Amino acid sequence: MFMNNDFMLYPNFKTKALTFSYDDGPKEDRHFIELLNKYGLKGTFNLNSGFMPETKNENDRVSLEEISSLYEGHEVAVHTVHHPFLEKMPASVIVTEVLDDRRNLEKHLNYPVRGMAYPFGTYNDTVIEACKNCGIKYSRTTEAHHNYILPEKWLKMPSTCHHADERLFELADKFVNSSPKKETRFATHGWLFYVWGHTYEFRTDEDWARLEKFFKLVSKRDDVWYATNIEIYDYIEAFRALEYSVDLSKVHNPTGIDVYLLHEEKQYKIPAGETAKF
Ligand SMILES: [Zn+2]
Repeated sequence: MFMNNDFMLYPNFKTKALTFSYDDGPKEDRHFIELLNKYGLKGTFNLNSGFMPETKNENDRVSLEEISSLYEGHEVAVHTVHHPFLEKMPASVIVTEVLDDRRNLEKHLNYPVRGMAYPFGTYNDTVIEACKNCGIKYSRTTEAHHNYILPEKWLKMPSTCHHADERLFELADKFVNSSPKKETRFATHGWLFYVWGHTYEFRTDEDWARLEKFFKLVSKRDDVWYATNIEIYDYIEAFRALEYSVDLSKVHNPTGIDVYLLHEEKQYKIPAGETAKF
């Protein structure tokens, strides 16, 4: 993984980012979104277009009709049409499952769907290659590293933890009360706190109360960027695309995204398409 020598800040000089990734599109997504919106948080929702009221009479799921309004301001991503174990399928079926899901979802959205979560979190090299060929930029697994590091491979994207993880609040406390620079002087990037799950797992009032307690703790903080998975992908890729002069005194940002960094402990914003001098 290429990283330049500068410390990657998030947009507007923030040192941390928080994102959510939720699968299957159960009807509980509606209440979850209400809470995300109430606290100014952002998430990504990985949907199976074959299991919706319009396609399979599944009334315990959200409908295709409502996805553009329900998930507005968040990200809709692929979870395949029928939720198979992709690693047991031939490449042709993997491609069909991914492309048809993209096509079905994109019919109801005004952007290309580029993100994904693997059904059951399982994959192999054939799956990764097929997804890449279908225009998928990142895909989430079910691995948890209990850390705030960046993904090494976008098509094997791990999480910090599942929301039901017993370490959720320990990780949240550290996330709000410390900072990457304080934790290690060798830090090269801002922190990424990545939480995943399924909203149907919130069954009782206590479950929802625990979630809201977490939201209260991590929301409305000046040093945190609240973003969807694809916004984080696009931003990190923009940072990695920076082009430096040989003596490292000038840097060009060839992308369409403003990039923020620390160069020798000083903050810089490198506007989209511009060249900056340190
Ligand atoms: Zn799933």
